[in-house]
Formats: sequence, C-alpha cells, structure tokens
Amino acid sequence: MIGYLQRKLHNLTHPLLGRILMLHRVVEQRSEGENRELEITPNFLKQTIDDYRNQNYRFVSIDEACDIITKGKTKQHFLCLTFDDGYQDNYDIAYPILKELGVPFTIYVTTGFIDNRVPMWWYPHEQLGIRTESLKALDVDPLCTIGAHTVSHPRLDILTVEEQCKEIAVSKENLEQWLGHSVAHFSYPHGAYNKDTLQIVHKCDFHSALHAWGGTVRRGDNIYLLPRIELRQP
Ligand SMILES: [Zn+2]
Repeated sequence: MIGYLQRKLHNLTHPLLGRILMLHRVVEQRSEGENRELEITPNFLKQTIDDYRNQNYRFVSIDEACDIITKGKTKQHFLCLTFDDGYQDNYDIAYPILKELGVPFTIYVTTGFIDNRVPMWWYPHEQLGIRTESLKALDVDPLCTIGAHTVSHPRLDILTVEEQCKEIAVSKENLEQWLGHSVAHFSYPHGAYNKDTLQIVHKCDFHSALHAWGGTVRRGDNIYLLPRIELRQP
C-alpha cells in the first residue's frame, strides 16, 4: 500500500511526457524459436503507429524527445520509436513503412554487426546485420537517427571500466568516422549497466542513453537512464 501511494505521489509530481518503444526486427514471417519475440510483422508495426496516433501521441525523434525531457513539459505526449542492434530488415522492411507514414525513428547499431563482421550469435545460421550502404542511405534521411550500441554487444555491467570504455567509445568513434558527423545517442545492450557505465556515456558526450526495462518517460527522468517499453507482438 505504501509503495502504491509513493508511486502515485511520484507520478503526480512527475507528469508523463511520453513513451519510448524498443523494437528489433520487422519481418514478413516470424520465426518459431525464442527469437520470435524480437520480431514483429509490417502490419503489426502499422497498427501500433495507428493506435498511438489515435491516442493523440506525437511521434518524435530521439533529439526532440531529449529536448522535451530536458524542458520537463509537453502539450502532447511523445512517442519515440527505437530499433536495437542494426538489422538489415530495418532498412528493407521497416524503413519504407516509416517513410510512408512520416514516423521518425532511431537505430542503435552494434558496429561489429555491420556487414556481418561479427555474427549475431542468437541467429547463428543467418546474416542479418545491416550493410554499410543501407546504413548510409538511412543516415541521410532526416527521419532516421543513428545511435551507438557498442562494438560487440556485451553485458556492460560485468566488464571492467577499461573494457566498457572501449566498447562504448569505439562504437561511437567508428560510426562517426563512417557517417561523417557526431553520434549523440546510446542504448545499453541487454539493458545492462552499472554506475561506471553511466559515467562513461556521460564522458563520451552522449546526449542520452536508453535501457531496456519498461516504463514511461516522466519529468525528472535521468537522461542516461531512459526507460523503454519493448514492443511485443502476441
Ligand atoms: Zn541489442
């Protein structure tokens, strides 16, 4: 009861600003194994966008979301779409839909997965990493923001400070070199972090960092610990 009341009180003094959704793959045919929960169909994506628009959410880029979070107020709740890892289907299947509907989105790319230099071990028989030319094509569209998601997708919280620094800083540097501009946003692989991780993303000059644990974005939220809601298709 006390917990409930505390949460109620917290929510009253920290009004809802918006929601950040976490997605991975968009595929025509979902797989049967445990990767199924990482996959949604094009129709489910369109339906989700429709539903949030009907609830009067406004779709914004991660930059605009950060702006709203920093100001701590908004007239209309925001909805921010994010994709993790960097799958080629984000370009082939999700992008045409988002382009048609005018929905901004962010892709957090694990740099080792680009052109399949490092395999995604949870899809051992497929080469699903985004290709450099697709990433560059997305990057020139103002609808798309490219963020960093480490070099090799480790759990950062069990690495040493030096190892964490390398994973975080090198992924940022690589992307910046390839894209020719700064990369300002980060998401934690597996949603895992510790107090060192937060210091490193701050030191690396990221403007925001997102974890993978559910929750809405409210006034006063830590910009380096923004919650996301995983979009799951039943
Ligand atoms: Zn990931």
